[in-house]
Amino acid sequence: MNIVLLGPPGAGKGTQAKLLREYFGLWHISTGDLLRKSIADGTKLGSQAKEFIEKGDLVPDNLVVELLKERLAQPGIEKGFILDGFPRNDAQAGILDAMLKKQAIVIDYVLYLEADEPIIIQRLSGRRVCKNCQQNYHVTNMPSQKDGICDTCSGLLYQRPDDREEAIKNRLLVYLRDTKGLVDYYKKQGKLLKVDANFDAPIVFDGLKKVLL
Ligand code: AMP
Repeated sequence: MNIVLLGPPGAGKGTQAKLLREYFGLWHISTGDLLRKSIADGTKLGSQAKEFIEKGDLVPDNLVVELLKERLAQPGIEKGFILDGFPRNDAQAGILDAMLKKQAIVIDYVLYLEADEPIIIQRLSGRRVCKNCQQNYHVTNMPSQKDGICDTCSGLLYQRPDDREEAIKNRLLVYLRDTKGLVDYYKKQGKLLKVDANFDAPIVFDGLKKVLL
């Protein structure tokens, strides 16, 4: 089973992708995670992407496609994957279709997570991430036991630069301008499954399972 997760920033794509990965044994491919890793590793691609990410803009297609291509070429991909954060515009959707066709891979479902703006802003502005293991927390919805310290690995928690107010506003604009149109693109392909993502993660996950199974 190959799945694409679609939806605004803060809809919970990353969280749901992890739950889907565990439940169905699929690979989780997050282009945001791949980009953040490139930055942390100090690669050339990472340094080219950094400024776009911090402002909440989309990173140029060629850079993201390069990372995705590498990931899709790894053995084991035939077990199935969840694509989280790609495609984000029409050009990327076309590139993805062409790339998968070459590998004889088909996208089975596109899960569209719908969430309202006040909820999105509350989730993103309160999100904290472990520098070490990337575990997500939230200052009120899911705080760590010790302030600023990861429960799992004792790493330091930080706020992603693109989770600051100005960048959040921009990410929402970018989503409406470049990404939202993909809902129709996949609806026309008969692959779109819509889920209300305004609730806590376990409830949203139940909704996902209901439409999938
Ligand atoms: P995410 O972790 O999916 O919220 O992505 C964080 C940031 O990484 C986005 O705001 C973009 O700057 C960048 N990014 C992630 N995926 C893509 C993509 N498919 N195309 C362009 N930029 C991306």
